[in-house]
Amino acid sequence: MSSAPSQTLDEAAASPASAVLQALRPAALTRVHKFGGSSVADAARIAALAPLVDDGADIRAVVVSAMAGTTNALVAMAEQAASGQDWSADWSALRERHLATADTLDPDARHGLRDALGRDFDGLRDDLLALASATGDLAPLVAQVHGLGELVSSRLVQAALGGEAAGWQRLDARDVLVVHPGEMGVGVDWDASRERFADWRARRRPSRVVITGFVARDADGRSTTLGRNGSDYSAAIFANLFDADELLIWTDVDGVLSADPRLVPDAMVLPTMSYAEACELAYFGAKVLHPQTMAPVQSRAIPLCIRNTLNPSAPGTWILAENPAGDAELSPVKGLTIVRDMAVLELAGNGMVGVPGAAERLFAALHRAGVSVVMISQGSSEHSICCVVRAGQVDRARAAVESAFAEAIADTQTQGVSVTRDISILAAVGDGMVGIPGVAARLFAALAQARVNIRAIAQGASERNISVAIADADATRALRAAHSAFWLSPQTVSIGLIGPGQVGRELLSQMAAVLPRLRASSRVDLRLRGIANSGYMALDHFAIHPDEATTRLADMSTPSFDVDAFAAHIRAEHLPHALIVDCSGSEAVARRYPEWLAAGIHVVTPSKHAGSGGWERYVAIREAQRGGARFMYEATVGAGLPVISTLRNLLDTGDEIEAIDGMLSGTLAWLFNSFDGSRPFSALVRQARELGYTEPDPRDDLSGLDVARKLVILAREAGRELSLDDVDVENLVPEALRGVPRDEFLDRLEELDAPMQARLAAAQADGLALRHIAHLSREHGARVGVAALPPDHACRHTRLTDNLVQFTTARYASNPLVVQGPGAGPQVTAAGVFGDILAIAHSLSDGIGLHA
Ligand code: ASP
Ligand code: MG
Repeated sequence: MSSAPSQTLDEAAASPASAVLQALRPAALTRVHKFGGSSVADAARIAALAPLVDDGADIRAVVVSAMAGTTNALVAMAEQAASGQDWSADWSALRERHLATADTLDPDARHGLRDALGRDFDGLRDDLLALASATGDLAPLVAQVHGLGELVSSRLVQAALGGEAAGWQRLDARDVLVVHPGEMGVGVDWDASRERFADWRARRRPSRVVITGFVARDADGRSTTLGRNGSDYSAAIFANLFDADELLIWTDVDGVLSADPRLVPDAMVLPTMSYAEACELAYFGAKVLHPQTMAPVQSRAIPLCIRNTLNPSAPGTWILAENPAGDAELSPVKGLTIVRDMAVLELAGNGMVGVPGAAERLFAALHRAGVSVVMISQGSSEHSICCVVRAGQVDRARAAVESAFAEAIADTQTQGVSVTRDISILAAVGDGMVGIPGVAARLFAALAQARVNIRAIAQGASERNISVAIADADATRALRAAHSAFWLSPQTVSIGLIGPGQVGRELLSQMAAVLPRLRASSRVDLRLRGIANSGYMALDHFAIHPDEATTRLADMSTPSFDVDAFAAHIRAEHLPHALIVDCSGSEAVARRYPEWLAAGIHVVTPSKHAGSGGWERYVAIREAQRGGARFMYEATVGAGLPVISTLRNLLDTGDEIEAIDGMLSGTLAWLFNSFDGSRPFSALVRQARELGYTEPDPRDDLSGLDVARKLVILAREAGRELSLDDVDVENLVPEALRGVPRDEFLDRLEELDAPMQARLAAAQADGLALRHIAHLSREHGARVGVAALPPDHACRHTRLTDNLVQFTTARYASNPLVVQGPGAGPQVTAAGVFGDILAIAHSLSDGIGLHA
């Protein structure tokens, strides 16, 4: 054996098949490349092929299609010629296009391209003239015309690769390829072709050759073609004749996709698939390859790769004899396709139960009528047989079946034939489905969730394909739902953020920091797909990078915020879950929660409107969560501290709440922690305001209302029907200062000092200290205000702006459970919000794709 040819390691690594072959490398590496019409569409594209075929293989064959649009033009000209119409203008235009390309590729006429093409086009003119007057079998002449595009493109490509001087020969496939038409398309006369090919090879000993795709000869030596789009097939045949190591089919997509990307934006390139899967997908109309392409490479187990001329660094899709182990883990389903324009035909009746031959009679009738049956399903009760046929054939099909069963129908043994139109077939294809029980369940669950009604089901005995018949109108929705069930993590969440204020912005930066890690380490895939403030919104079909979200929003120039459109976008059909984060603090937004939850959108917020607002809305939110969507608002109490979740855990495990006490305001905690009499209360309020601990108007804190709201939230979580009005709130702002403008209030702050100083002195006299606390219990109800506490009270042992919540319960009776820590500030608040988002994501069904 000779030494390994000069393929670089990188090139070998880029192709799994090459890596395998490295070990078993034959004496010479042979690679066949095929370029489609768009890859040779003009001089620039043709010139760009050279580096792609400069692949280090010892023997290289390049099979080419006609320049894009050429075959269509030739087909039209042949028709015009045969029917006596004028084709001369089209002929001139096509000739001009090719000559101009030749001039660009061969400016110094070194390759004599212009002359050669000129002769080819003269030949075409002669053929067209002959067509106008010919009699008898026109097919060979027509095929000769149709095939001109490949003849001329092969010359152009040969020249672009450097021509004979660079060792590139040219082969007109008609010199070696012998084929015959067959029932399933064009068949190859392998013996004859092999003999001629060997002959040609012996004479020419080619190591580099450009070959015309599409064209061939029949057994009588007459021109023919492999059928439209047949040059993939040509390439596969030549890969077989060369006994190539690899066949690379270059096109203008990155590979075979899991579904049509126009219908499923999240469709992804499949790294590998088996020949069988590729055949199955091609049959169901996924434009993978010409359906016959697989057989010639499959018989010699030649790996085939679909690559993108426009993006040559993409690895493409490898089609191999078998999927590499482990690949099925990605998804048991490889591809999903939709075939439209179908109709369901059903023959039903008691008369068919147990009667042998009914099915045979039905299909024989359809066969005689020339109707091809796309899908068959029969219930085991044998009460009905149902099949799916092309819409254009259904009338013929019905007539045929009615006449075949005329007697039975007249006898009312059968109820006759019914037809449902506007049907599509959704097919899921994949080797990995064999013997994996949950695949059908996952598909059906996804369709059920998307509210798609299934008319008929068929699973091939190979278990490589499950097909369902559905209404045309449901097709896209069904495809997207099925795609997300198989391809996305069940923990993929479409997220919308309303209100990028302090907390919202902090949340974005926390998300930016951890999302990549989350996606890699768990299946949680959070996609920020929309961001909005009161005026604008920025939406993205895929995802907005959290770091860019506020800029995206700031770049919007015309006010666009529409809360309904926003929610509809977030609740995307193609993603399994949706979640809106409301950091707006807006009452109007909070009003939407019940309807969002009812529509299956989870809601997370640090805003207290819903939790402490009107009782009716609160109940509506509780009710709406029965559908499965969750409402979480941990950050409303104690910011990031686990207050609400602790309370929930106590209740969920059957504990009983006796009392809840605590310091629920960071601002008031700081004020009273600092108030020891050494400085007047007003001075502390001023300092707190400067430190950013208070609201812009400190009365919002001093009024106690904010604390009362938090207490309402806790009380309701604990199962009490409590509203803000039921809370006994002490307002620390004296009556006289409540209605005055903010600046005046700030000027008159000293008026707070005397009464507060007196309370402090009284408390200190008893060995107590003042704290602002909230209390909830059966005996004392709900109260918020300043209290004098003994030294051993938990609230005496807090620092700075700490929040503290103390749960006295049946289990934590003598020694209450305490949650304590910093309870204010954008960072910890955002962390509380983020925690809720993750809690929801982690809880999402890992089952069969249903919403949690
Ligand atoms: N040029 C032929 C066609 O357009 C063959 C091919 O491109 O595959 O049908
Ligand atoms: Mg083509």
